[in-house]
Amino acid sequence: MKAGGHKDKPLDGEGHYVPLNGHVGILGGGQLGRLLAMAASRLGLNVHILCPEENCPAARVATSHIVADYTDERALTQLAQMCDVVTYEFENVPAQSVTTIIERGASVFPGAKPLAIAQDRLLEKRFVHEIGGQTPIFHPVDDLASLEEGLKKTGRPAILKTRHLGYDGKGQTRISPETDDLGATWQDAIEHAWNEIGAKPSILEAFVPFECEVSIIAARSQTGEIALYDPSENIHDHGILRTSTVPATITAKSEQVIRDLTHKIIAELDYVGVIGIEYFVVGDGEILVNEFAPRVHNSGHWTEAACTISQFEQHIRAVCGWPLGDPNRHSNGVMTNLLGSEMDDWRQFADEKNTMLTLYGKREGREGRKMGHYTRLASRS
Ligand code: AMP
Repeated sequence: MKAGGHKDKPLDGEGHYVPLNGHVGILGGGQLGRLLAMAASRLGLNVHILCPEENCPAARVATSHIVADYTDERALTQLAQMCDVVTYEFENVPAQSVTTIIERGASVFPGAKPLAIAQDRLLEKRFVHEIGGQTPIFHPVDDLASLEEGLKKTGRPAILKTRHLGYDGKGQTRISPETDDLGATWQDAIEHAWNEIGAKPSILEAFVPFECEVSIIAARSQTGEIALYDPSENIHDHGILRTSTVPATITAKSEQVIRDLTHKIIAELDYVGVIGIEYFVVGDGEILVNEFAPRVHNSGHWTEAACTISQFEQHIRAVCGWPLGDPNRHSNGVMTNLLGSEMDDWRQFADEKNTMLTLYGKREGREGRKMGHYTRLASRS
C-alpha cells in the first residue's frame, strides 16, 4: 500500500512527488499500459491496473489488477487509496472517472483539461487555432444540412470524422468525387457518409494532400520543464500506423515549426506527462496539426530502442514528479507494427541484428490488431 506521509511532499518546491517504491495506478490494460508498467517497475515502483478485461496485457506485468469497469466508483476509490498518482493509457477514459479519483485523494496526470480537449475533435481543432496553429479546413457537423454546408467549405475529397471515440482510422469515412461515379446521387452520397459514421456529432475535414505525416513525442514535468524527442515520419495504412522512422525527411524549417508548435501546445494545456502530436507536412514550413493523444503514443515506440530514456519511462518520471530524462536519440531507427498474423514471423525479427522486438502477450491475433512491434536501428545520422 502507498507510503503515507509522502503523498504531498513537494519536489523542487512544487508538485506531487511519488516516493521511491511508491504506487502508480494506470487506467487501461492494453499494450501502452503494459509498457508503462514495465518502465515503472524498472524504477522500483509498484503498478496497479484498473481494466475490465481479465488477463489484459498490462495486468500480467503489474503488481495488482482491479477488474472493473472504468465507471465503477468502488473500484476507482480503491485505486485512489492504493496509489500515490494515477495516469491513463487511452484517451477515452470517462472524464467523471478522473474526477472521482481526484475527489478520493489521488492526483491524476495528465489532468482533466487535456483529456477533455483530446476527447473531442472539434474542441481539439479550436484549441489549435486559439494558440496560433493551423489544422485542415474543418466544419462542425450535426445533421445532413450542416454536412452539406460543410462540403461547400472543404470541397471534395473530404473526411467525415466522429467528434468522439475515433482511433486508428475508426469512426471516419471519406467523401470523394468518385462517390458519384459509383452511380449514387449527390444526396445519397451524403446520406451514406452520415449513416456510415453512425449519424453522430462529427467534423468534416478537407482532405489534405500532404507531403508526409510526422509526429512528435513531448513530455512536460510538474514543474514545467519540457523535453522533446525528435520528430518521426509515419506511414499509415487504412488509418493504422505501419512504420515510424527517425530522422524524418523534413526541412529544418518544417522541423522548427513543429517543435515550436509542440512547445506551445504542451505548455498551454498545462500538461504533465507524455503527449503524442500528429502533424501533416504540406510544404516547406507549412504544417497542419492533425490530432494529439494525451498519452504515450504508438509513433514513439522507437524511443525504447533508439534513446536512453524511452517515452514510457519519461511519462512515469513526469507523472511521478521525478526529473525528466534525456530525450536525445543515439541511433536512427525504423519502428514497424506487427498486426494480426504478422506476429507469426516473430522469430525472423528476434534473429535480426540491431533489432529490438517487443510483443504484447495478446493471445488472439485478429486481423489488424496490434500484437507487437520491432525497431531496426542504424548508426545515427
Ligand atoms: P486520424 O485518426 O484522424 O489521425 O486519421 C488517421 C489517418 O487518416 C491519418 O494519420 C492520415 O493518414 C489520414 N487522414 C486523416 N485526416 C486526414 C485529412 N484531413 N487529410 C488527409 N488524410 C487524413
